[in-house]
Amino acid sequence: MIGKGVRFVKRIYQLRVIGLSIGFFCVAAGFLQNPVGWPLWALLAFHGYLWPHLAYRLALRSKIPYRAERLNLVIDTAFGGFWLIAMQGNLVPGAVILAMLSMDNIAAGGTRLFLRGLVGSVVGALLGLLLLDFRFLPQSDIYTVVACLPMLALYPLALGKSTYDMSKKLAERSREFETVSQRDGLTGLLNRRYWETLLIEEFNICRERKQRSSLLLLDLDHFKNINDTHGHLVGDEVLKNFAQLLRDNLRADDLIGRYGGEEFVVILRDISFSEAETLAARLIEQVRRHRHEHNSLWGCTISAGLVSFHGDMEAHYSWLQRADNAMYRAKDRGRDCLVAEGE
Ligand code: GH3
Ligand code: MG
Ligand code: MG
Repeated sequence: MIGKGVRFVKRIYQLRVIGLSIGFFCVAAGFLQNPVGWPLWALLAFHGYLWPHLAYRLALRSKIPYRAERLNLVIDTAFGGFWLIAMQGNLVPGAVILAMLSMDNIAAGGTRLFLRGLVGSVVGALLGLLLLDFRFLPQSDIYTVVACLPMLALYPLALGKSTYDMSKKLAERSREFETVSQRDGLTGLLNRRYWETLLIEEFNICRERKQRSSLLLLDLDHFKNINDTHGHLVGDEVLKNFAQLLRDNLRADDLIGRYGGEEFVVILRDISFSEAETLAARLIEQVRRHRHEHNSLWGCTISAGLVSFHGDMEAHYSWLQRADNAMYRAKDRGRDCLVAEGE
């Protein structure tokens, strides 16, 4: 909450510095058209050029910067209402300022902050009526209108840019979050939950479009021994290295997931049974060779079950069940081998 508040305060600070320094000229033009005394000029200079920095510091020092900044935004609108009265109701600068302030509030805090801002402007206007000598002079001369143009042209650009930057950051965050929620933290492969949704999709594609795909289930042999002998950290390292080996040796289209502890699953998409069989056998061979060449798998071998899609399968879990059975048959046959079931 506090972290988020600081970012919010910084964003509003930039906008307030731009908005109030340009807004100064709108009100100053109103003051030139219907002259006022030096205290109002001094207050205007304070609001235009000192208040943005003061508001920033006050918000950052407060316990909950986000809430303090929302109060600052309401104070801004109170100033807006006050300036409208101080300019004797000068219509163009008054409308421009109040419109910009309302735009700020609705962008920063939705309808609720917008309504609070409206109350703020009414309070500011009432204060103006109470303290100042008000004569209703709504006409704006051409100089006042011209002085309002920079505010009209520039401020919406600044607010639009700031909103765009923020939504871009948000989109990046949500992409990052999506990736994190789909991946297994240790190996970076797809996690079980997400992988299973892809399996359901693949199952439906195979059934509807008669696509040929195969499901490969892999389990590291006697992996528990690695943990017991060398410790969990080495075990983790083996799992990571094995995941990398899978990435290096499978096709870019294949969907590789970590199904559980030392069990991995791969959807081999759009591939004939014999091609899938060759690929799986090559993988087992690759792991075996690792033993002699790199030893990054600490001597581990794998048992694999391969099952190609068949129209008589009831649902995706039947496919998974058959691959699991095939893998256990490979374990029974003495491990370090493939049991394949297909056409
Ligand atoms: P089998 O050949 O029958 O598959 O024997 P196994 O020892 O590989 O199988 P078992 O199911 O008995 O043991 C799996 C082990 O994997 C037990 C568990 O502690 C370990 N394990 C599971 N997840 C992780 C992990 O994330 N890191 C590490 N280091 N070990 C894990
Ligand atoms: Mg195992
Ligand atoms: Mg296992």
